[in-house]
Amino acid sequence: MIQISALPAFTDNYIWLLQDPDTQHCAVVDPGDAAPVLAWLKQHPAWTLSDILVTHHHPDHVGGVEQLKALTGAKVYGPAAEKIPARDVALNDNDRLTVLGWDFDVYTVPGHTLGHIAFYHQGVLFCGDTLFAAGCGRLFEGTPQQMHTSLERLAALPDATLVYCTHEYTQSNLAFAQAVEPDNTDIAERVETVRQLRARGEISLPSNLALEKRTNPFLRTSETSVKQKADERNGRDNRSAVEVFASLRAWKDKF
Ligand code: ZN
Ligand code: FE
Repeated sequence: MIQISALPAFTDNYIWLLQDPDTQHCAVVDPGDAAPVLAWLKQHPAWTLSDILVTHHHPDHVGGVEQLKALTGAKVYGPAAEKIPARDVALNDNDRLTVLGWDFDVYTVPGHTLGHIAFYHQGVLFCGDTLFAAGCGRLFEGTPQQMHTSLERLAALPDATLVYCTHEYTQSNLAFAQAVEPDNTDIAERVETVRQLRARGEISLPSNLALEKRTNPFLRTSETSVKQKADERNGRDNRSAVEVFASLRAWKDKF
């Protein structure tokens, strides 16, 4: 059974570490910095880094790739549509790969960047900066329509799916979620749960899709109360879920 843990990087990134105890091979997702991975490997000399998965081209996700590959010979998987350093395997929508014996499906999820991909294996999702706990990534390259479609695609995966995103943004995302839905008791409960975790210095991830559907405003654009709030904020009638999404995203950018 693969074990998944987080290696913190920079101020709020997580590099996900996947370990296969049978082979003592491991993989990392989005190593924006080589140092935390190299430190872990030094402390665990029996382990071999065999694979590197990359969701998109931003430096905080690819910064450590070249050095890690050079030192370990790990195989680098990344989106075909983006420039990824030292990439060995270029991935397109619906491609499949096997890492540490796990089959992953690749989904293209444009919005944060145009070539952004997510990796899915039976109830486990690595989604980079697309879906966050209680939020979503900024639209640096894509349109609201693209990001909305990408989020809907991820939300259609099984409810129990664990969401391994790349940043510890949950608390600030929840503050925004609460501004959008002040009467949502699931959000209020989650605010308290995450506050306690963070006060103890613990990570707020992984999330899961059931919880996201109840508490993430960007997955709740079809709710009447969310639409009304977006209309109020933007002084217009948002006629579709995509328009509600666009209004929320613009609001959150300045929140
Ligand atoms: Zn990014
Ligand atoms: Fe990032």
